[in-house]
Amino acid sequence: MSGIFVVAEHRKGVLRDITFEMLKKGRELAGASGESLTALVIGKNTGAFAERIAASADTVIAIDDPKLENFNGEIYQNILSAIIDEHKPLLIMIGHTAAGMDFAPGLAAAKNIAITTDCVDLKLDGQKLTAVRQLYSGKINAEISFKPAESYIVTLRSGIFPPEPSGTSGKLLSAACPDFPESAKRFIEYIEAATGTVDITQADVLVSVGQGIGDVKNIPMMEAFAQALGASLSCSRPVVDRKWLPQERQVGSSGKTVKPKVYLAVGISGAFQHLTAVKADIIIAVNKDPRAPIFNIADYGITGDLLQIIPKLQDAVLKLKGGN
Ligand SMILES: Cc1cc2nc3c(=O)[nH]c(=O)nc-3n(C[C@H](O)[C@H](O)[C@H](O)COP(=O)(O)OP(=O)(O)OC[C@H]3O[C@@H](n4cnc5c(N)ncnc54)[C@H](O)[C@@H]3O)c2cc1C
Repeated sequence: MSGIFVVAEHRKGVLRDITFEMLKKGRELAGASGESLTALVIGKNTGAFAERIAASADTVIAIDDPKLENFNGEIYQNILSAIIDEHKPLLIMIGHTAAGMDFAPGLAAAKNIAITTDCVDLKLDGQKLTAVRQLYSGKINAEISFKPAESYIVTLRSGIFPPEPSGTSGKLLSAACPDFPESAKRFIEYIEAATGTVDITQADVLVSVGQGIGDVKNIPMMEAFAQALGASLSCSRPVVDRKWLPQERQVGSSGKTVKPKVYLAVGISGAFQHLTAVKADIIIAVNKDPRAPIFNIADYGITGDLLQIIPKLQDAVLKLKGGN
């Protein structure tokens, strides 16, 4: 069993960042272990994807079929089963995304291959794989050792590795699509999330509020602060669950992915379901708990009560702008 395989992910004609994040990690593992790195892209008209991915893998296998126009987890599982039988890879990397989670566990069960999901790091020592997973909302990193096996499947959390091409020039192979049975699942349509009046995905500066704001009556204070900064207001999921802000403001795995220059997280603990969707240049955290996981990734942090800190920050911003 040899080789590291990355299953590329794409949606609506666009390769998703997780593909390049996995290839980045896959390249590192391949370099350290002497294994080859293969990317597998499944879909309709995969040629352009394959060419782009070739800059990050030794080999790209493109499986192209009109019936693969839309994602279907059952069909992915069947195709990957055939690929595993043919190539017998040592490690198969799949995104820990809605799509990846749809087929990775079923694939592992069908092929009797050991699987660890939602990994934030991987080490390959010869053929011995160790995965790192987070426990207790990111407070503990646990090293998971696998029993020695011929193959392993892992799903990787998105947003952990930089999605950079490695500058290689891989070989492109187009493979015949293996036969697959009719699927009981059927693609109906994509439903875009509502954007409402504020599109947080386009904001350069976001003030994001979490459950730590304590009460809906503190929302106007946060809105005024965001306005003083020229920022938009976003939030964590509990804030939406409590109906303090509408769903269109939610950042996270079940909300929106945001890419601001500055992300100011106020009263947000830093659960991975939240942070996975924050691709900010600079993260600033305000939290009263110095051990909150948000401080592990924040570039700047203020420890203290947000009800005291935010009005002071707002005064300072207004003074700087000459407004006070
Ligand atoms: C399937 C699934 C999907 C999910 N999707 C999402 C998602 O899309 N987005 C999302 O955000 N979450 C999501 N979650 C929930 C996620 O796991 C966390 O529960 C959530 O992100 C926590 O939100 P929070 O940080 O606002 O609240 P908490 O975890 O309660 O943190 C509040 C923080 O505020 C601090 N604090 C309290 N009072 C003050 C004060 N006065 N001053 C300063 N700091 C204070 C506390 O120290 C704490 O760190 C999902 C969970 C699941 C299971």
